[in-house]
Formats: sequence, structure tokens, C-alpha cells
Amino acid sequence: MHERIPRLPDAIATASGGKIVLLVADGLGGLPDPETGLTELETAKTPNLDALAKEGVTGLHVPIAPGITPGSGPAHMALFGYDPVEYLIGRGVLEALGIDFDLKQGDVAARINFATVDGAGMITDRRAGRIPTEKCAELSAELDTIKLPGVELFFRPVKEHRAVLVLRGEGLVGGLNDTDPQATGVPPLQVRAETEKEERTAELLNSFVSQAGAILVDEPKANAITLRGIATREAIPTFEERYNLRAAAIAQYPMYRGVAGLVGMNVLPVPDTLDEMTALLREHYEEYDFFFMHFKYTDSTGENGDFPGKVAATEQFDTIVPGVVDIATDVLLVTGDHSTPSLLASHSWHPVPVLLKSRNSRRDPCESFGETSCLGGALGVIRGVDLMPLMLAHAGRLAKFGA
Ligand code: ZN
Repeated sequence: MHERIPRLPDAIATASGGKIVLLVADGLGGLPDPETGLTELETAKTPNLDALAKEGVTGLHVPIAPGITPGSGPAHMALFGYDPVEYLIGRGVLEALGIDFDLKQGDVAARINFATVDGAGMITDRRAGRIPTEKCAELSAELDTIKLPGVELFFRPVKEHRAVLVLRGEGLVGGLNDTDPQATGVPPLQVRAETEKEERTAELLNSFVSQAGAILVDEPKANAITLRGIATREAIPTFEERYNLRAAAIAQYPMYRGVAGLVGMNVLPVPDTLDEMTALLREHYEEYDFFFMHFKYTDSTGENGDFPGKVAATEQFDTIVPGVVDIATDVLLVTGDHSTPSLLASHSWHPVPVLLKSRNSRRDPCESFGETSCLGGALGVIRGVDLMPLMLAHAGRLAKFGA
């Protein structure tokens, strides 16, 4: 019975239609400065976004669900039209993607912390005194030489005390427990197999941890490791399979390039500048039906609690717009993946402004691009996962549903 229920919009996606550009400013949404009552986006001088908002249709989107603060991974899955709870991407997988690691389907990835243990094996520092990244790289190269029976192994540094372990081979599974006990004065946990299927993966990982311990034994700080977020890269239906879209990603940061790759986007070369992002769009515009463009600095400045910095990043983002508008003449949607208010210095659950420009979009009274003005937009407040069907519809890529 179940498979007879058509999945929307996939079931009505047509083979042709207009082109779509999804322009994302990471962490775009904010909160008002108590002095001025204006958010970062409302404070920033954004003449290009404002002009677009005037011409197009606006609204707000709720990334996952009301009250839920998302990570950038699930928030992007929602923008791409994938229910982020159904298509959960494990933290180990995201960490591996975040360093541009070429993760294959079926690989198991785990986030690693270097840690300090005392003579009795009790954890005294879960982050090994945040060893320098160079030290992490040096130790990672040593641990990368460990051999395990029947699997290929990759150990890669990330930053400070963080690294990634990837196992590649037949029959590996994810979802096993973390070995970081989240406390000091206790030993790291073992990886436990809850089912027979998990036994081999658990054995391999435990064997790795003990071999790593032997190599690290004389290290003053990083003399142990813990594993977190053990996950496999699962098969995910691609943009082509779901929407008949040949899609490309233009993004500087590895994690976003990685998530785009997971849904089958062709990830274009890393652009060094904003001008290069637009140049890539122009150069490849004829080859693809869908482009995902990602701008990072609205998020990183928000995470730093830097209100003026986020205002400046938003103004910088605004400068991309004319070049993109010039190329993306069918459907252009501008939004963020989630809010990152400088006042919270973190991601948040607040709805994110959206603006959609297309020849067949309605008009609304919204005259500028901001959290408050977009409340009066004709799109209303919708879920992040509903943006993809809207983009497809405006591009003339969805057939009528039913007779
Ligand atoms: Zn984000």
C-alpha cells in the first residue's frame, strides 16, 4: 500500500523547465539590536536585495520545525527539499565532509577527540588541552598507519584536538555508541555491539582505539582518543532522481560542498572570491538546471557574536546579487539555512527571510529584505522543506497533480 502513495513533488516533476538558482547566506536571520530595534539584515545597507524584494515575493521559512535550532547540515537538507529528520546525516559523516574527505557510500566515519588519561586510564581532559592543529596533524599521520583486518582505514586531522576516522570495507554499520563519556575521572567507554550486525564494526573500532593508545602512550597531553557520532554514508536519492534536475554547487566551505555532493550535485571548483562565484555561475549556466550558491560569512560573524561584523558580511553578500540576477533570469530564491543572531552568538530556531524572484511570482507589499518586512510577504511563514517545490513550480517543472 505504502509505495502507492505518490511522493510530492517528486511524482510530478517534469523533465524540462526553467533554471533555478538558490542563493544561500548561511545563518542569515538575526535578532534586533536592543538599541535600534533592527536586526543585522535590517541594519545592513542592502539596496540590491531590497530591490529584489520589491519585485519578487517574500516570506519566512522555518528550517526544521518551530523551536528547533538546526545545524547547517540538516538545515541545508531542508532547503534541498529533503526532510532532515528522515534523511539524517550522521555527525561523523558531516565531519568527514567538512574536511573535503571523499567519503564513499557505505564508509563509516567517526568524529575523534584526542584526550588525556591518567596512569589509571581515567580521563583528565576530554580535549587534550586543545593541542595545536599542527600537533593533531602529526599524531593523525601516525594513527593513519594503523592496520585493521579486511578494511581500509583513514585517519585525518580536523582542528586542535579534533580528527576524523573513516573505515572502508564490506558490512560496516553506523549508529554505534560514542566512547566519550562526557565526563572526567572515568575511563573512555568501549564501542558496544547491540546487534550481531554491529559486532564486526565494534571490534574493529575498539581494536583501533587500543592500537592508537599504544602509539600515543608517551604523549604528555594527547595520549588517548574517543569516538563520537559513528555513522555511515547512506544512499540518498539524488536531485536528478527526485526532481529531474542536473544540479551544481558553488561553495567555498567543505561541509556545504559535501552536503551538496550527498544529494548528487556536481560540486564546481572552489571559488576564491565572490566574483569567482558569479563567474562560475555564468560559465556553467547552460550545463545545469539548478545551482546552489553558498555564502558563509553571515553565519561565522553571527557565531562570533559580532553584530557589526554580521552587518558588514550581509552588505558584502548584497554585492553578489546584481551579478546573479543578471544570469538567473528564470527563478532566483535568496534565503539562509537558519538564523544565527549575533545576540545569541549561535544558531537559533527563528524563521529565516526568503525572497523569490520569477516571472510568474505574485507581488506583495514587501519593499525591503528583512525579518519584519518579510512577515508581510505573500509566501507567508512556511517550512524550509517546502521551498524546493515552490522553486520547481515557478520554474514550470511540476505537472498538475491529479485530473
Ligand atoms: Zn548554517
